[in-house]
Amino acid sequence: MRPRIIAAIAALVIGTTWLSAQARRTLDIYVVDVEGGNATLFVTPAGESVLIDAGNGGAAAARDAGRILEAAKDAGLTQIDHHITTHWHGDHFGALSEVAQRIPIKAYYDHGPTIQPQPASTEFLDRVYPALVAKAKRTMVKPGDRLPIKGLDWRIVTSGGQVLQSPLPGAGGRNPYCATNTLQDPDPTENAQSVGSHITFGKFRVVHPGDLTWNKEVELMCPANRLGTTDLLIVGHHGQAISNSEVMVHALQPRVSIINNGTRKGGQPDAMRILLNSPGLEDVWQSHFSLLSGQEYTVPGMFIGNLVDQQPDAMPVGAWTAPPQGQQPPPPPAHEGKSYWFKVSAQQDGTFTVTNTRNNLTKTYRARTN
Ligand SMILES: [Zn+2]
Repeated sequence: MRPRIIAAIAALVIGTTWLSAQARRTLDIYVVDVEGGNATLFVTPAGESVLIDAGNGGAAAARDAGRILEAAKDAGLTQIDHHITTHWHGDHFGALSEVAQRIPIKAYYDHGPTIQPQPASTEFLDRVYPALVAKAKRTMVKPGDRLPIKGLDWRIVTSGGQVLQSPLPGAGGRNPYCATNTLQDPDPTENAQSVGSHITFGKFRVVHPGDLTWNKEVELMCPANRLGTTDLLIVGHHGQAISNSEVMVHALQPRVSIINNGTRKGGQPDAMRILLNSPGLEDVWQSHFSLLSGQEYTVPGMFIGNLVDQQPDAMPVGAWTAPPQGQQPPPPPAHEGKSYWFKVSAQQDGTFTVTNTRNNLTKTYRARTN
């Protein structure tokens, strides 16, 4: 290629990058499909980034890291400024090392040591994580902490089994759902240790509870609702029914909920009933059609990011029976093909759009006027 043509192309590429960095006015959130794990990428108007969780490990690590990198590239990122690991389960930290090999990560946040050692997490925490954080910065967070992110108020609301004690500004009213709540069995796993975040961008609010389970939701939200209401809920624990109590979901009154579920993980009828019946709800978006929801408990297809691998002849109306609590669902068929993320773009006034990249459906939720 002639130098002049190369120079012209370089100018075009640099110009486009410069333009996109200059033009961004929104907080962008990518809910990346990692087949029933979690990876949520936040990018501020200034281009500062926070990745919450990094998808699955083992054989799925390269796939999930690739999907996260695709989202980072779409956002024009050259580094991840902050990475939060909500808890030490493989569907959350699994591909972290692979992600870090492909894009620099500058700061790590977590709840501290695991309370549920398993071979994969022990190996990761003993050998892999120390090497990653040695090149960056590690902070063990506690409820009430703020992450130093320009333009956002990022509060940690749960961590290491502890919950926020004093309400956020404007919150703290009596939570009417506490009176009828019944507790579930105590959860001795890492889920209950999840780092939960509350994020404010102007008037726009997001809650990301990680895999926080039912009884911890109750501790956080009763008797006073310490979080107030939210515009967007990144649904806890992949939309499973051992999380997502009414005291959490209905009290938050999300306008939009996005579930990062799998085809056989999350979306059980008990959880969907609460999520879909939430006061003030406008839409639920699901990363996958879940066989555990069936037609009865799912959302219209246009709000679903990824379909099932092997399309059945007929839409299953009835839900599959979920495996007993504590047991893993049968492994899904390998899904190595194209996956689709949801992209949320929020404005300071509270208006936000959600885009389904599978079908390019974009829906705008106008700022509340009251
Ligand atoms: Zn999980």
